[in-house]
This record gives sequence, C-alpha cells and structure tokens, in this order.
Amino acid sequence: ELAMQMVRERVPIAVAGGIEDPNDPIGTDPLRVAAAIEAVYSPDGVLVLMDLGSALMSAETALEFLEPDQQEHIYLCEAPLVEGAIAAAVEAMLGSSITQVLAAARNALVAKLQQLAPLLPEHAPEVVAEPPINLTEAPGLTVTVPNRVGLHARPLAKLIELLGQFSAEVYVTKIDTTVNARSINQMATLGARQGDELHFHAVGPDAAAVLTAIQALAADNFADRDDDDRRDHDPVGATALAIPKTVALNQLLGISAAVGIAIGPVAYHAPVLPSVTEWPVADGAAEWQRFQAAIQATVAELQAVQISTQQTVGPAEATIFTAHRLIVQDPELQEDVRRQILDEHRNVEAAWQRAMQAVVARYQAVEDDYLRARVADLLDSGQRVLRHLLKVTLPTFRFEHPVILVAEQLTPSDTAQLDPQKILGLVTAAGGATSHSAILARALGIPAIVGVPELLLHVKPGQMIALDGATGQIWLAPTTAELTELQQKRTTWQAAQQAAARASQQFAITRDGKRIEVTANISSANDVAFALAMGAEGVGLFRTEFLFMGREQVPDEEEQTMAYRAAAQKLGSRPLVIRTLDVGGDKPIPALGIAAETNPFLGWRGIRYCLDNPEIFKPQLRAILRASAGQPIKLMLPMMSTLDEVERAKVMIDAAQDELRAAGIAFDQALEIGIMIETPSAVLLAAELAQMVDFFSIGTNDLTQYLMAADRGNRQVASLVNALQPAVIRAIQQVVQAAHKAEIWVGLCGELAGNPLASPLLVGLGLDELSMHAAAIPLVKARIQQLDLSQAQQLAEKCLTLRSVTEVEHLLAAV
Ligand code: PEP
Ligand code: MG
Repeated sequence: ELAMQMVRERVPIAVAGGIEDPNDPIGTDPLRVAAAIEAVYSPDGVLVLMDLGSALMSAETALEFLEPDQQEHIYLCEAPLVEGAIAAAVEAMLGSSITQVLAAARNALVAKLQQLAPLLPEHAPEVVAEPPINLTEAPGLTVTVPNRVGLHARPLAKLIELLGQFSAEVYVTKIDTTVNARSINQMATLGARQGDELHFHAVGPDAAAVLTAIQALAADNFADRDDDDRRDHDPVGATALAIPKTVALNQLLGISAAVGIAIGPVAYHAPVLPSVTEWPVADGAAEWQRFQAAIQATVAELQAVQISTQQTVGPAEATIFTAHRLIVQDPELQEDVRRQILDEHRNVEAAWQRAMQAVVARYQAVEDDYLRARVADLLDSGQRVLRHLLKVTLPTFRFEHPVILVAEQLTPSDTAQLDPQKILGLVTAAGGATSHSAILARALGIPAIVGVPELLLHVKPGQMIALDGATGQIWLAPTTAELTELQQKRTTWQAAQQAAARASQQFAITRDGKRIEVTANISSANDVAFALAMGAEGVGLFRTEFLFMGREQVPDEEEQTMAYRAAAQKLGSRPLVIRTLDVGGDKPIPALGIAAETNPFLGWRGIRYCLDNPEIFKPQLRAILRASAGQPIKLMLPMMSTLDEVERAKVMIDAAQDELRAAGIAFDQALEIGIMIETPSAVLLAAELAQMVDFFSIGTNDLTQYLMAADRGNRQVASLVNALQPAVIRAIQQVVQAAHKAEIWVGLCGELAGNPLASPLLVGLGLDELSMHAAAIPLVKARIQQLDLSQAQQLAEKCLTLRSVTEVEHLLAAV
C-alpha cells in the first residue's frame, strides 16, 4: 500500500500473499504468485520481491508456471521487502529500466544505514587526517559527486593519479570529515556517494591549477564511464548480463572453463599478511631505505601485473592495479611507517604490518560491501610489500584439505602451481573460457568456472559450495537434495572418466580404420607423466613460454636444452612438437621487459617479437636443435601471418644449424619444421605456406578471436569466441585442404581439439592429429573409437552449410 501510494498507480504492482486456508492464512501460494506476475507482466520485466520462508520457494516455483519466454523477463530479488518495494516503485515511476529498478531495490538499505551510522559507535565516521593549516584560508572548490555509485577505487585512482602531476597538498572535506586526497585509503573510507558535496582545498604553489584540473576531472565523471562504473560497483550482479534471470537466488552463473562437479569448502586465494616478528632498530635511516626499496620493487611488480591483466581481462579492469600501486604508495601509510621506524624504533616489517592492519580495520568498519570487498586488495598489495621485505616467495597454494579455490584472478603461473589432489574446483571472478588460466585448469582436470565478477561478495572462506564446470553453475548454499543430486553427478562423471581412461590407452581409430593421432598440450616436462597416463601418443604443443614466465632472467640455452630434453626423454619414442616462444597477448613475460601495448593481442606477439630479438630467439632455436639429437622432436613457429616471416625464421634456423655443425654439436638434420595457423592471414595464405613447411597445427583459440574480432579473455564477448562458429569451421576446412594438397600433415591444438562434442566434426574435416589438454584425451579417444569416418565426413559437410554456432552445437549434440 505504501509503495502504491507513493507511485499513485503509475507503476503496475500486484500482491500475492496468503493461502486459501481460513484457519491458517499465513503462507504463500505459487499459483497466486504466478497470477500476480501475469497480472502485471510486460516484456520490460517484472521484479518480484518476497519476504522469507515459503515466499521464497513459492516465488521460485511460480516461475515454472510461466511460459519460457516470460520466465526470461522475471527478476527474483533478495532486497528487503518494504524498503525494496518502495525504492523499486519510485525508480520504476521514473521510467528506468528493469535493471535500474533491480539495482535501486538492492541498494534500498543504503540510505537507512547512512542515517543510522552515527548512532552506532563502531560505524561512527572517523576523522582520519588533521590538515596542517586552517583550510578556510586556502583556495577551494566544491564538487558534487556525479558518479552513479560514488567515488570507488577506479575513479579515485584517476583522481590521485592526477594529483601526482601537482605539488600542492589537497584536502577533501565531506560534512565534518577531512582527509588527505592523495590517500586512496582515506578517500575510500570517506565514502563519497553520488550527490555528496565534497569540498576540495589546495595548499601549495600550484593550488589554483590543481583545483582547475580536479574540476575538469569531476566534470568528466572522474573519467569513469558509466557502464564500467556499473560493472565495478555492481558486485551483486544487478546488470542484466551479469545474472541470468533464470538462475535461482542461491546460485551464481559463470563461464564454463573445465567440466566436472566439485563440492567442498571455499579457500580464498587472497593472500593474508604473514606473521612477522618485531624487534627494535637502532639505524632508522637504513631501515627506512629498506622500506623504500621494497616499495619500489612492489610498484614495479604491480606494473607487470597490470600489463598482464590488461591482456587477460581488459584495460578497465586492470586499473585496479593502479589502485594497488596507490595503496602501497599511500602517503598516510608511508607517514605511519616512517613514524614507527624513526620515533618508535620499530623494524620495517612490523611497522608496515601494523600500518596495514590499521587501514584494513578502517575499511572493515564501513558498512559498504564494495569497500569491504576491497580488503582483499589491501591484503594483496600489503603482502607483496612484505614479500619483498622478507625476501621470500610464499607458498601460495598449499592446502591441508581439498578445497574449492576462489580467487579474483589467477595468473597462468598461479594456475600452473595448483595441485589437482588438493583443488577440487576453481572459480575466478575474472577471465574467459580460453584464457590461459582456464586452459591450465582444463589441463589439470580441475572443474573450473571463470568470469563471475560478483563472486567474492557471495562466498566466505570455509563456506561449502558446489559447482558444475559444464554448466557454469555455482551453488552458494546447496540444499541436501541438491547435494545428493550433485554428488550423484560427480560419481557418474568420475566413473565416465575412469572408463574413458581405460579406453585411452588404445589408439584413436575409427570403426572403419582411420587413425587420428591424439597428443597432449603441455607447458613443462612435468606435465608429460600425466599426459601419458591419460593416453597421449606424444605432445602436439609444448608451450615454451611458461619456461620464461614468473622469473627475473630468461632461461639460457643450457637451461632450455635441458628442459626440452627432459620432456623428450620422458616421452621416449613418442613425438614432441616444441613451439618457440609465444610471448605477448595474455602471456606477458616480465623478464623480457616489453612495454605495455594498447592492443597486445594485435601487437608484438610470438614470431614477431622473436624475429626482432635474435638474442632471445637464437638460443631457443639452438636449444631445440640440440635437444633434437636422437629424439623425435619437431619445431613449431607461432603467430605466423606472412610468408616472409616463415622465410626469415627458416634463415635463422639454418644459421643456428650451421653454428652447431661448425661447433660439432649434434642435432637432428631432418628436423621437421611446422607453423601454427592462428591468424586469418595464415588461413588465406595456407596454400603457399604449405609449400614452405612440413606441417601445420591450427590454433583455434587465437584463430577464433582473430576471425571473430573478439578478445578471447573478455567475458562480454565470450559467445563470439566459440571455435564452433561457422566461420572458424570453414577456415579449418580450407587449411586442411591446403595442407593435404601439398601432402603435409595438419593437426589442431586449440581448445576445440579437447571438446568431445567436436570430435566427429574434426575427424570429418580430415585433421590428422588432435592435440589437447591431457585430461580431455580419454573422452576424445572414446568418441573417435565409436565413429565411422564416412559418417563423420557427412556430418562435417552438413556443418559447413550451417548458419550459426547454435545450429552447429545442436547438430553436434544430436550425433
Ligand atoms: C591457439 O591459439 O589455439 C593455441 C593453441 O595457442 P595459445 O592458446 O597458446 O595461444
Ligand atoms: Mg595461440
């Protein structure tokens, strides 16, 4: 009634409380809920608010009574019933979209909390900095915060970056709290929301200039584009894309990255501050210097992380690492540490830890989910500094009991460290299905879901959750019935894996006798044993860039020779295709010191970098050649886009061979040289390229992103980055035909190779070899063993006529 009064019938509202039992009328009836939804239904969307208990279940059940196309437009919302209904009704009256209405309902408690905060002692606003002078004398500027969700980490990072160009000190006052504008921590805990008035005062020679610059930045929404802004501050997924409407309330949905079911307790990969000892220091100056050196090293490291995040996730998301840099360089923290070292004679580790803990406590005291979620950022950056101070690499992924690992993001080198025995499943906030972390998770056989930005707000360490890697569903509080069902699925999945594992030791021969070579993708010699256990007949792709990652110096020729030889020896007489360094894209290699690029996937990647840097490329070529002595090694070049690149690479290989010959060092004189086909240009030049090399391997991960013009690490375009897109299938066909015409063999080593659904298509298209993450081998082999070549060829013909990825997927699913 209250909501209806407020909007005076301009918003359709229907009520569905009570049940048809005069003796016990308190309850809810799904049919009534469904009827109420029908009564106000329009395709613009219907928001359903409920209280607790049966209302929740009835609302979920009601959805089942609606038509499927209606269901898509229904939004069940967990907002508080009274406040949510009023906020939503008012928002709807303004003509806002359903996602804005949903967001308004979810934020309905904010105003109440703000009003009550001063009455609750632990929430009382804190005056964190005393300005050195009376600010009323200083030049000032008043800004009304324009950002829809207030000044959160990214706009603050922009502001503080801007201040870095000026020498004036800038203070910000909100109501009666004044903070130093250069301190990201103080600014964040100030809690500046949309519509708040902030008074900026500047003290120093360029005071007027800095205020003008701030005014311009504020006029530009603090350089925060509205949609970025929403993505950042929409942790509960109020935007329509983030939460599929049919997902139940206690579920999240992400992008499927590796199949399998996992049930277990959550462990965060959000590093905690290690315990440090405290001791008195006599030489304060030396201690302070040690601190400065650690900060410098941390800042350099964060720059590298930022570059890699730009490449894996996107430039907007990567700016969070600007915030991390600002956190560790925060003048308030620096001052606190300086005071502790010089005045209290505390060692720097202890001083830093105390200073961080104080800031963490302040963030935690603020009733704001967003800020509380940023504690992970504080701890993360704090730990980096400590690591540099203590000169230790912390064991990040050691767990006593099996866990489901939850992380904001994992680098490829992080994922590579994971132990499948201890990691039941993996969920990350960032990433797309073909990001290298996802590839590694598949390689390790760990069920994984990526691209769940709202994740960290919904799970706590130790919480039991469940996930289905195949569908991307995450159950935040699985019910007993759900657990039983998932457990059954897990048992079936494991049984199928085991049956396939037995079949995997046989060759992949179709029923009518065509053999397809099935090999593994590896990133180090350590992966060989698992690959062989899974039934690999060799290695079709050794991603050598992993040897170069996560270290300060590039591996020299000796070290590389040993690494390649080790892999070859473990494989015995089986083939080993070693791909030369594929740097760039989402695989940055800090040791190479490559500058950040605007479009790294279109930049100085793979062979382009190697041809321009013979001092890196040559030792690798010599190492591969040396390892090839007496071993069935083949050399493969990545990211080719011109004929000239192949020629130049071959000249360098010839030169390396001449050098070895002259020095009397053995190598395989008949070494096969092949190239990856992963650019549209290489597809179009396949006939010519096939004349120049001994084999092709199609890299559908990159080929798909380049053909579809869609970044393989960007979740927003994940549906385009699907190697079953008709354009990609046609490209594969063209490449296979060109290779066979020139009588060379052609394999496929993108993630598509490991998708058993695609096996009939790939066999039908005529691929000679399929190389995949080892865990996929058993199922793919089992699939091929059931196939009939001529039927697979007919299926491939049919796929080539289809018009959409959905049609292709339907056809393959029906086989
Ligand atoms: C590919 O692009 O398909 C491929 C196998 O190479 P990478 O995934 O290492 O870029
Ligand atoms: Mg590639």
